Amino acid sequence: MEQRMEELIKILNQANVDYYSYDNPTITDQEYDSYMRELIEIEEKHPELIRDYSPTHRVGSTVISEFNKVVHEVPMLSLGDVFNEDEVISFDEKVRKEISNPHYVCELKIDGLSISLLYRNGKLVRGATRGDGTIGEDITHNVKTIKTIPLDLGRNIDIEVRGEIYMSKAVFNSLNEQREKEGKPLLANPRNAAAGSVRQLDSKVAANRKLNAILYHLPEPEKYDIKYHYDALEFMDSLGFVVSKHNKRASSIKEVLDYISYWTEHRDSLPYEIDGIVIKVDSLSDQQTLGYTAKYPKWAIAYKFPAKETLTKLRDIKLTVGRTGQVTPNAILDPVILQGSKIRKATLHNEDYIKEKDIRIGDTVAIIKAGDVIPRVEKVITERRTGEEKEFIMSDTCPICGEHLVKKDAAYYCVNDNCEKKQIEKLIHYVSRDALNIEGIGDAVIEDFYNMGFLKSISDIYKLKKYREELMELEGYGAKSIDKMLDNIEDSKKQSLEKLLFALGIRYVGEKTGKILASHYKNIDNLMNTTYEELKEIRDVGEMIAKSTYDYFRNPENINLINKLKEYHVNMEYLDTKINENSNFIDKTFVLTGSLEQLTRKEASQMIEDIGGKVTSSVSKSTGVVVVGKDPGSKYTKAKELGITIWNEEEFIKNLRG
Ligand code: NAD
Repeated sequence: MEQRMEELIKILNQANVDYYSYDNPTITDQEYDSYMRELIEIEEKHPELIRDYSPTHRVGSTVISEFNKVVHEVPMLSLGDVFNEDEVISFDEKVRKEISNPHYVCELKIDGLSISLLYRNGKLVRGATRGDGTIGEDITHNVKTIKTIPLDLGRNIDIEVRGEIYMSKAVFNSLNEQREKEGKPLLANPRNAAAGSVRQLDSKVAANRKLNAILYHLPEPEKYDIKYHYDALEFMDSLGFVVSKHNKRASSIKEVLDYISYWTEHRDSLPYEIDGIVIKVDSLSDQQTLGYTAKYPKWAIAYKFPAKETLTKLRDIKLTVGRTGQVTPNAILDPVILQGSKIRKATLHNEDYIKEKDIRIGDTVAIIKAGDVIPRVEKVITERRTGEEKEFIMSDTCPICGEHLVKKDAAYYCVNDNCEKKQIEKLIHYVSRDALNIEGIGDAVIEDFYNMGFLKSISDIYKLKKYREELMELEGYGAKSIDKMLDNIEDSKKQSLEKLLFALGIRYVGEKTGKILASHYKNIDNLMNTTYEELKEIRDVGEMIAKSTYDYFRNPENINLINKLKEYHVNMEYLDTKINENSNFIDKTFVLTGSLEQLTRKEASQMIEDIGGKVTSSVSKSTGVVVVGKDPGSKYTKAKELGITIWNEEEFIKNLRG
């Protein structure tokens, strides 16, 4: 732990120097934010280990340039970061502990560098960078070249204002095009390009770079009798400063979240880069009540937009065995945040994938979330190779039982039916939520019971009640939780046939196929006695599913399992759940996009199917209705283009009620 902490401090301090002192980042912002998060978490758990040179307590980096140093009377702080909606809501909850009815101001988080502008008698006398928050650099000569910063306010006023200097996307792109032609190294991003431009001794450079400034902070509002941050923004606007026209007052956190989702979708339409949204408590007296930490105000927070891709280090490649025996290589990663969640592992699919992408242990890799859910290693950043990376050699034996692996297409399989991991995975699948949904018997319980000999195969689940007393005596298992689990096991016997078919883990029989087979055959005996030819003819059941289903019920072990389950009175009939078909839904195809507030997507799909509708994932001319939740994606746009009926959540629920 201590070693990792030192390692993180070293990485972050070096990154700070590269970024702030040389305007030349060597790692991405996502990597920086993830390392910082990890360090904060370690420090929170082990406050005794906190070093006084930790970057978690310092703003920016020490000023090392040739510019004159300036002291900020009111420190220029950074902002606390949050990475998802839940964290925005927690921020609001924290604020509410001190303030009864907080109102907020939402602003775009412009990706540039912060600037302090000082005016005496209305004349610009000093422009300074943030530096380490207390000591910045005097860059007045460069600031004066920025056309949108007034040199004279035209009235007799002493004032300091703060904001962001930035380079527009258009200027950045043409600058890089020019550099490419001249064979010069390209600038990493508009933020570093802007910072590099104002931190030049020769003001001609800054003048040529067409920088801009937007102001968003008045450090001493009391001097002008201002009580709200939003009024301070309007005051700066009235003095002739450029203030963003997108600033917005919000009277609830819901309005804040709406602002975030609007700009998440529309940020590309802005002429400059934004990397998030800043949320500030509006009332200045409330701000005083909330106060500051050494690094940032407690009355504001920066929501950072989720990156679609992030970089991290691949530490190792470990093999896992699934319930079908497939052995999958997984990347073990340095923890990294991607789209709001922390990722430690990512799939590498199979040996061919690793070879094709030339992924080596020790590489820096780009991670994406496939289908927005499962993290996947997308590519290697070969420029970051040090020569220490090791090639991965696929094992030819099962990492659990040692059995020789068999290769089928691109995948390797453990064919040992008694391989422990395979059995455990089968059990886990059987009780899982979308299968028989037996609560109280999670992955860890299954593994425990398996290792203790209570569970060796699926039918043993129903034998557990015989061991009730013994189970209750196990360490870590209370009487109540065992009884609850046994009750849930009994209840699960009543589930409809499609759940059981899915739970059995027949190859290629997912939830949907389970339902098709169950509704066609009505009970398991009909299905067991059917022919391959008949199976193949059923709509949406292809040759592959037909063959694996037919073969499954020819295997004596599986027949034995079904017979045992029958003895335990597990239901083998299809219980038709189409309680009352609804004409708004029957035989119509539905597509869901965006997040619904009152239902999960799964629940909504289930309800549509229960009353006769069909759910598909993509919009086409034959789509009947597109149900649109919050933050809908391209499916919404396509539905509009094709003129398909669109329902919002409210309309959807109204129609469900019939
Ligand atoms: P920050 O960028 O996360 O947030 C604070 C800054 O936001 C302020 O100082 C201000 O300049 C800016 N800002 C823009 N619009 C604003 C608005 N409307 N209101 C208030 N402030 C606004 O914090 P930071 O301390 O400047 O920088 C830390 C971030 O910089 C990191 O999270 C990381 O993303 C990046 N960074 C990257 C590296 C790297 O090596 N890639 C190194 C250091 C920092």
